[in-house]
Amino acid sequence: GPEGTAVLTVDDLAVHFGGIKAVDGVTLDLARGKVSGILGPNGSGKSTLLGAITRLTPLTRGSFRFEGQDYSHVRPEEVAKLGIGRTFQTVRLLDDLTVRENVQLGHDLIAGSRPWWRRPDSADREAADAAVTRALERTGLAGKEGLRPGQLSYGLQRRVEIARAIVMSPKLLLLDEPTAGMNRFEREEIGKLMSDLRSEGLTQLIVEHDVAMMVDVCDHLFAMNSGQLIASGTPTDVVRDPAVREAYLGK
Ligand code: ADP
Ligand code: MG
Repeated sequence: GPEGTAVLTVDDLAVHFGGIKAVDGVTLDLARGKVSGILGPNGSGKSTLLGAITRLTPLTRGSFRFEGQDYSHVRPEEVAKLGIGRTFQTVRLLDDLTVRENVQLGHDLIAGSRPWWRRPDSADREAADAAVTRALERTGLAGKEGLRPGQLSYGLQRRVEIARAIVMSPKLLLLDEPTAGMNRFEREEIGKLMSDLRSEGLTQLIVEHDVAMMVDVCDHLFAMNSGQLIASGTPTDVVRDPAVREAYLGK
């Protein structure tokens, strides 16, 4: 679809854990080809929102659509096939596998889009290898592919996660605190990677505490507090919003 139309729409989403209203009535649109960000203090419901829209966390109420299609009740395995890739707040890599094998796993997630009766042939394997190689190159991991995640710095492990998410050529990439635990240099590199992916037209939603970086990288910002959306707009408008400052700086 054309740039600027919504790729993802979330309508009155709520996720309650017993009495905890982790997400409590969030409605938002993600514009195609743009980088959107979510700011908010710890515990404001950002990760739960990402969990819900990737179907890992059951919803209490509400719905969401991707490319106009309601997928609020699909199985979690279907989400990757729809074209939604994600990374997690805490790195989830398999330490018995090499970097390359970890990225290959991301590709295998969507390999099921081949007709079930057709075995992977050499052309499929070549295409998969090429996709994995390209994802490793784009994330600056060429040369590291034979190492185990445990042998890499934390910043590089997060890159492996991003490689695993982009290897399936998603239409939407969700990143939960991609620069957490990184030094300034590593953060700048990730910011550059997000900008590169944006220039290739990849729609992104990023949860991140580094406000300066979010203002640099994002086209649009949302702010959450206590499970609710408290602001939505251009990055400069949102960071100047008194409600956002209060949520961050406290009472
Ligand atoms: P954020 O990512 O913005 O830091 P979270 O979405 O992780 O916030 O958490 C929002 C709220 O929901 C917090 O109060 C958290 O303790 C609670 N929460 C998150 N996941 C669960 C869960 N599985 N069970 C119970 N409470 C949860
Ligand atoms: Mg979180």
